[in-house]
Amino acid sequence: RASPALLNQIAANGIAHHQDWYVPVRNLEQDMGWTPDSWTHAEARQLPNYPDQAALNAATTTLASYPPLVFAGEARELTTDLAKVSRGEAFLLQGGDCAESFAEFHPNNIRDTFRVILQMAVVLTFASKLPTIKLGRMAGQFAKPRSADTEVINGVELPSYRGDNVNDIAFTPESRIPDPQRMVQGYSQSAATLNLLRAFATGGYANLHQVHRWTLDFMGRSPWSKKFADVADRIGESLDFMEACGINPDTVPQLKGTQFYTSHEALLLQYEQALTRQDSLTGDWYDTSAHFLWIGDRTRFEGSAHVEFLRGIGNPIGMKCGPSLEPDALIRLLDTLNPARVPGRMTLITRYGHDKIEKGLPALIRAVKREGHPVVWSCDPMHGNVVKAANGYKTRPFDRILAEVRGFFAVHRAEGTFAGGIHAEMTGQNVTECTGGGIDITEQALADRYHTHCDPRLNAGQSLELAFLLAEMLNA
Ligand code: PEP
Ligand code: MN
Repeated sequence: RASPALLNQIAANGIAHHQDWYVPVRNLEQDMGWTPDSWTHAEARQLPNYPDQAALNAATTTLASYPPLVFAGEARELTTDLAKVSRGEAFLLQGGDCAESFAEFHPNNIRDTFRVILQMAVVLTFASKLPTIKLGRMAGQFAKPRSADTEVINGVELPSYRGDNVNDIAFTPESRIPDPQRMVQGYSQSAATLNLLRAFATGGYANLHQVHRWTLDFMGRSPWSKKFADVADRIGESLDFMEACGINPDTVPQLKGTQFYTSHEALLLQYEQALTRQDSLTGDWYDTSAHFLWIGDRTRFEGSAHVEFLRGIGNPIGMKCGPSLEPDALIRLLDTLNPARVPGRMTLITRYGHDKIEKGLPALIRAVKREGHPVVWSCDPMHGNVVKAANGYKTRPFDRILAEVRGFFAVHRAEGTFAGGIHAEMTGQNVTECTGGGIDITEQALADRYHTHCDPRLNAGQSLELAFLLAEMLNA
């Protein structure tokens, strides 16, 4: 029943023997009543209440007429890459802001985050000898789930901030009213960001010859920048050696540029639906707002509107798995989201907390193994490790982040599964949002450069340090 293009893709994935029972997403749509708006009949949490229905319709009609940001073929390539991760043949590096913002939209910010992701990928690839799949939380990561619908400051209660594509972070009643035109601004910013990322990835910046120039000036003080320079030296020597043997690295696409994918939480379904298009090649539906979309921990409950929406799109998808997820519920969700068990389709992003992972994760892994679902296991060591500093700042201690990563690797080693990826909130900027790390950021220092619009991010130095520690674990 699969289209020829899909059969080719399956063959390219090396899983041709699955053809006899492979059911493409398109038939699922036909057989099970999925449409781009079928989510509207399911229980939706965390969505804004737009006060002006006509204004909402105008914004989504505009968006539906705009070009796709990514293409179905690119999303399928990412599925193929993630299938490699599910088999232990590659590693997934996903990172970026907790929330992108209109205020911090600047080419230098995009460049710096891209650059740190490249640095991390080089460190990981060099040490592990595995390809690293680079996936930004970028070019569309705006909408935020919140633990409460309102927030109270100095006795004043207002609706919560829900991300720049929904409302404004300023603490005034007008700012907090959801404005659908913000979706259009979010689209424009995503398009410009993606355009720059594509240029960086293929236009020379990511050429491995430039590896020394990716070092950020302000990282001079970090003990890890010296270690990075050593790796860069060795890569430079390898390239020189290849060249001496007659291979010009600039003629090798994988050395001359890189593949960079984008992702965000598929939370604001009105926006996601407007960008969901039918692929002319396969007839399948793709959410063209990003290559990869994930469901958050607060919206992955069974029967949710978010699960309903994501089950029908052809993109590779992620699901956050926190301590409240029961193994049986996980299996039912996997059966819904990936009934055909396509390798690379599902990435499970676990986010337990440093003190819960070793107790909670084994049961999920055993259930998934027992049922034979092919998944990528990725570790989000950020969202289970939030603490409030004495001075009121929301922070994440770097040693707890590392402890969760260590726990993740230890559990997978014990269960015989592949610890396939990392999901980090991080920035290329020299912020002070997470405590600890090589240049020890103290609780007092949090006030210096605390810029995040939502959760605290690793800064450039802490991100690189994380990559070196991951590299060690991948080699252990
Ligand atoms: C996030 O990734 O920013 C987030 C809200 O995560 P989670 O859904 O895991 O809480
Ligand atoms: Mn977050």
